[in-house]
Amino acid sequence: MILKYLVLAGIIAAVWFGFKAISRRNKAKTAEDQRKRKESVEDMTACSVCGTFVTPEQGDCRKAGCPY
Ligand SMILES: [Zn+2]
Repeated sequence: MILKYLVLAGIIAAVWFGFKAISRRNKAKTAEDQRKRKESVEDMTACSVCGTFVTPEQGDCRKAGCPY
């Protein structure tokens, strides 16, 4: 009878720890995604002439008549 409860407790613990591990992994992934998004926003610079936000990869705003 006690063994039965021990097995049951073991199963519950296994499920609980498994769930916690998954939720922690999802949380870490979400935090990483948010950090990446924040970084990409911070990397953007505003064109000093037209104010368009451009990424360093774009180089310039590509607007006709804008030197930047
Ligand atoms: Zn511009």
